[in-house]
Amino acid sequence: MAAFNREDTGPLVHTIGKPIVELSHVDKHFGDLHVLQDINLTVAKGEVVVVLGPSGSGKSTLCRTINRLETIDSGTITIDGTPLPTEGRPLAQLRAEVGMVFQSFNLFAHKTILENVMLGPLKVRKKPKTEAEKQARDILERVGVANQAAKYPAQLSGGQQQRVAIARSLAMEPQVMLFDEPTSALDPEMVQEVLDVMVSLARGGMTMIVVTHEMGFARKAANRVVFMSDGQIIETADPESFFDNPTSDRARDFLGKIL
Ligand code: ADP
Ligand code: MG
Repeated sequence: MAAFNREDTGPLVHTIGKPIVELSHVDKHFGDLHVLQDINLTVAKGEVVVVLGPSGSGKSTLCRTINRLETIDSGTITIDGTPLPTEGRPLAQLRAEVGMVFQSFNLFAHKTILENVMLGPLKVRKKPKTEAEKQARDILERVGVANQAAKYPAQLSGGQQQRVAIARSLAMEPQVMLFDEPTSALDPEMVQEVLDVMVSLARGGMTMIVVTHEMGFARKAANRVVFMSDGQIIETADPESFFDNPTSDRARDFLGKIL
């Protein structure tokens, strides 16, 4: 594994294992737009993959296909070896294996923070209430908002709400967590607290696919960077190689604009 820039925190301990997410020859169109073109991507257990690319390159669509919020035209997607079912209860069960955190926090406004985190485990995982509550409080502690448990989402800052959204996903004990620009809607002073939670998840061995423009996070936490442009994966590299030595013109152009 390449040496990453993380002097401040010491080396990540990653156990890279079996494939958790596998996309093979995935194609998708929106009308005439070929939004995903022959996408091949395998993410192993414990791996952190950061997806970069210009706006409109298909990053969100890629994430949405992985938990079947979008259908695909051809190819296959498997989660922990199981092909994505198309509908019904098998789909709900498999979706529970794929946590997703979006730019908008999407918490239930009329439920408390604790209730937001307990809901999935109660309804989908059928956990007993006392167990779900204990687990929810533990996870809220981990993301640093345990003292907000009785409040409602609107009473929290954006950074706190996004940490609750992460907690809510974690409560389902997913096999993989997808993050689609989780800090893009936050005020600048709240970005770091959310990134810190994500780095700590990465260090804990969570399998993660992260779409972000936060290059510091990519350098610090990613095992691999995947660069997309116009619906294609153009480049896959370890972060140091990608940032210091991108091989494609499109990646160089992209980095020139954002760095
Ligand atoms: P990114 O996340 O990289 O910005 P997206 O995956 O959101 O890219 O979008 C890729 C392309 O697909 C864009 O051109 C976008 O306008 C288009 N697109 C996304 N969702 C839809 C949709 N539901 N219907 C039609 N076009 C869409
Ligand atoms: Mg997007």
